[in-house]
Amino acid sequence: MDDRYWDKDIETMQRADLDQLQLKRLNETLKRASRSRFYEGKLPERLKSLEAIKEIPFTTKNNLRESFPKGMVAAPQEELIRLHSSSGTTGRATVIYHTRNDIDNWTELLARSMYMTGVRPYDVFQNMMGYGLFTGGLGLHYGSERLGALTIPASSGNSKRQIMLMKDFGTTVIHITPSYALHLHTIFEEEGVDPKRDLNLRIAFLGAEPYSDGTKRKIEHLYGINVFNSYGLSEMNGPGVAFECTHKDGMHVWEDNFFLEVIDPETGGTLEEGEEGELVFTTLRREGMPIIRYRSCDIGAVYKKRCPCGRTHRRITRIKGRTDDMLIIKGVNIYPMQVEKVLMDISEVGNNYLIEVDTVDYLDTLIIKIEVRPEIFHGSIQELENLRRRITEALRTETLISPKIHLVEPNSLPPSEGKAVRVVDKREKR
Ligand code: AMP
Ligand code: ZN
Repeated sequence: MDDRYWDKDIETMQRADLDQLQLKRLNETLKRASRSRFYEGKLPERLKSLEAIKEIPFTTKNNLRESFPKGMVAAPQEELIRLHSSSGTTGRATVIYHTRNDIDNWTELLARSMYMTGVRPYDVFQNMMGYGLFTGGLGLHYGSERLGALTIPASSGNSKRQIMLMKDFGTTVIHITPSYALHLHTIFEEEGVDPKRDLNLRIAFLGAEPYSDGTKRKIEHLYGINVFNSYGLSEMNGPGVAFECTHKDGMHVWEDNFFLEVIDPETGGTLEEGEEGELVFTTLRREGMPIIRYRSCDIGAVYKKRCPCGRTHRRITRIKGRTDDMLIIKGVNIYPMQVEKVLMDISEVGNNYLIEVDTVDYLDTLIIKIEVRPEIFHGSIQELENLRRRITEALRTETLISPKIHLVEPNSLPPSEGKAVRVVDKREKR
């Protein structure tokens, strides 16, 4: 047995076979989806090629909202065993229903993903994602149990207890949002615990929100841990859509379960491999609620090259941001991730920041509040001023506009225990 893979046949399947499997499963999906009120009469009976999927209209978040609560359900009530919902921070939540097979397939994908990063049955996995309607908790919980690791359902928050659990049970693997990982480290410092010296951590899964390469490096450095990017969205089950392998160069999309397209968000036209655009996903196995050509709003690109790990499933880049995240300030387009990218490369910057947009005298203003390292905050005023100028200049080069920078005390901004709120747009309220 080749112990690099959880499911070698599927993970290393020849590309032509994988395409064929996708087409077979896509056609099964069309048939199943037609049983839902939403898709009924809207889908072709059969596609001759994967390419032909382009003839089918996209499904959007709005479609999901409009068909709330059960308009997209394609299985009889007695076959549904669980529902999850998206965070719903940007309007009415959307709900996804699962049959027993759906939960089983999802569990497999997570066991496969975790195994791919090097997790083994002797590991102790502390899951610091919220348990409940959010998919990050239960999703990886089931995957970890299937893999055979000792699973601690810690859920999010209660930082001191998290640290205690890590110490008491010798946690080796954690699952956490990047913003919470940064916040948690400030509690480590307060408690006088050095994760590198005092704990056994070796692997972290970071996901559920966009984060920059700099943030990843910072967390690796602070914790002395190997960070793997984990991507998913509740409409496609949740985590387990795409995951980094040990080469840590892009995330493998599990193409036996999801069909991926990248489109131009403006025109809807298909983009080539390597071109950056909006990711569009189709479930290939889901029974409870199949979704076809779902516009994720997430921006990324597909790698052209095969991964040296031997897996044939294509890789995507880090998510750059969301099409609905983009801020337009004085007519200039800015993604919050551009700000994070700049900040995380500056060593004096601490572990939290907040972007505020407002209108003053009819003009857009961009204020960025940035926590700085304690020794900097309590150091000389001149140094603080120099830092403020340096950050302003770096942000202007990256975004083309000059934000107002407020350097603030460590731990003074609202902490994140799950998905961080990075942007407060006060213009919307006026
Ligand atoms: P939800 O459906 O509420 O779980 O939110 C899913 C969204 O979280 C995705 O569409 C992405 O915008 C974001 N997300 C999840 N994982 C990642 C990741 N690894 N990197 C960047 N964004 C992510
Ligand atoms: Zn790989």
